[in-house]
Amino acid sequence: MRITQLRNATIIVHTGRYNILVDPMLAAKDALPALRLLDGRRLRNPLVELPRSANAALEGVTHCLITHCQKGHFDHLDRAGKHWLRERQVPVICTPHDAGHLRQRGLNVQPLTADPVQPFLAGTIRTVRCAHGRGLVGKLMEHGVGYFLEMPGEPSLYLSGDTVLTDEVRQFVRRHQPQVCVVPAGGARFDLGGEIIMGVDEVLEFARIAQGTVVANHLEALSHCPVGRRELRDAAEQAELAGPVLIPRDGEVMTFEALMRPAVSAQRQATQSPGLTVPNWRRPSPSHG
Ligand SMILES: [Zn+2]
Repeated sequence: MRITQLRNATIIVHTGRYNILVDPMLAAKDALPALRLLDGRRLRNPLVELPRSANAALEGVTHCLITHCQKGHFDHLDRAGKHWLRERQVPVICTPHDAGHLRQRGLNVQPLTADPVQPFLAGTIRTVRCAHGRGLVGKLMEHGVGYFLEMPGEPSLYLSGDTVLTDEVRQFVRRHQPQVCVVPAGGARFDLGGEIIMGVDEVLEFARIAQGTVVANHLEALSHCPVGRRELRDAAEQAELAGPVLIPRDGEVMTFEALMRPAVSAQRQATQSPGLTVPNWRRPSPSHG
């Protein structure tokens, strides 16, 4: 299995003959509004362009997965993303909750059912509830889902979606121990209220619970995500978690091999930044269960 990090939450999962685009935000730099209005800067979004390799990577897309998209969450499906999907009539897999919304926009929607586990391509998929913030902010947010994909001969993959680290997420990870987890690490927040996705501390806690690789994204692409790659890298090194926590650059392709558990292995293949290290794999430690 390979994962191409495009930008923010937008990735492509390459598994078997399928190339699954996740949460496409395809807008040009600055094409989308500011997400913080009171910070004195009002930076427009996204902060960066898609990587140069994006067009070629998008060519091969066969399916699309949406974690959430309503109530203004354009960083998971923006106008450019909708246009791109509509033109090609790419099958869009989503929750029953988002199906009507996406169908109205002319997309080729193939909603999941309410079943906890269901067939998906060559394998299975299950949804895991997200909490897109806590307290009052949490009440106002659209809470999507994460997806857990199990494909034959491939490492199991948990795409957490936009969530803070909840007990439900912790329990899910402990129970299923996905071999690869993709989590939002930007520490996003609005002008008021707390974090609405994981920040440095929660990503590190997640990485202590998870025995597999943790891929951190949602970094350096949106104006309300203060966490930078360098900061997360330094914190992971300090916590001796630099092996399992991967922080891809936009355009980077990561390759993961399914081996007998728990010896998952991965190899990084840099398209834009050669010379990245191959992560060291931790053996699961009983103290982290
Ligand atoms: Zn997001």
